[in-house]
Amino acid sequence: MLHIGCHLSSSRGFAAMGRQALELGADTFQFFTRNPRGSRAKDIDPADVAALVVLLKEHSFAPIVAHAPYTLNLCGKEADNRAFARETMADDLRRMEFVPGQYYNFHPGSHVGQGMEAGITLIAESLNAILTPDQTTTVLLETMAGKGSEVGGRFEELREILDRVELGEKMGVCLDTCHVSDGGYDIIHDLDGVLTEFDRVIGLHRLKAIHLNDSKNPLGARKDRHACIGEGEIGLEALTRVVRHPALRGLPFCLETPNELPGYAKEIALMRKQAE
Ligand code: FE
Ligand code: FE
Ligand code: ZN
Repeated sequence: MLHIGCHLSSSRGFAAMGRQALELGADTFQFFTRNPRGSRAKDIDPADVAALVVLLKEHSFAPIVAHAPYTLNLCGKEADNRAFARETMADDLRRMEFVPGQYYNFHPGSHVGQGMEAGITLIAESLNAILTPDQTTTVLLETMAGKGSEVGGRFEELREILDRVELGEKMGVCLDTCHVSDGGYDIIHDLDGVLTEFDRVIGLHRLKAIHLNDSKNPLGARKDRHACIGEGEIGLEALTRVVRHPALRGLPFCLETPNELPGYAKEIALMRKQAE
């Protein structure tokens, strides 16, 4: 069975996201841990989170995916900028323990001219400072489009980070279909080849979640503009092959398409049908 959901707003709390997911026909979802600019997060209401934990279990949800604010940069140029990113992520991970055993996805960072090697080093150092042996959350590096100085547009870059993290068992990867296509991996004509390459470089056992998006731009464009399913350059047929691929079976698929809730409900229903 396909586990699929979409990005939801966390403004009404945790349990409300779970109920909203059910209304949309989802059995997973993604949310930002705080507003995208990375400001202070709301205090956790233990009763609210406990209600979500019960809902997830009762409805056999796949792991849910918390997404770090996309402005956080573990490999920024300024030390205080990096320290802010570290503190925010560490705080997010402490909060995630209220919902044990889920995923925390983040954009590895942008090296902003310091070079890929320096970027990778800073990211791995930060993760070594943040991760703790007793956390139950798995932290996911997202595959990126390779826009500007983004780290993570090549599978090799993600592998390099993973290799340098001491608590490697706390780490995984989230594959974004729009990003990998924009990054030049041809999931339209050669999904098998791309997954074989992922397995060779990173290892498929590291792949924990999929961001299911169409792309406004063609293969290799390095742009990162998401499109609705079937309205972009990847297309419904290729995305159907993604949800049906045996190597990806059982993973949570999250839509990050430019939709309001009714659009998400339609895409969830469509992809469930396509996956049959
Ligand atoms: Fe993302
Ligand atoms: Fe994504
Ligand atoms: Zn994106």
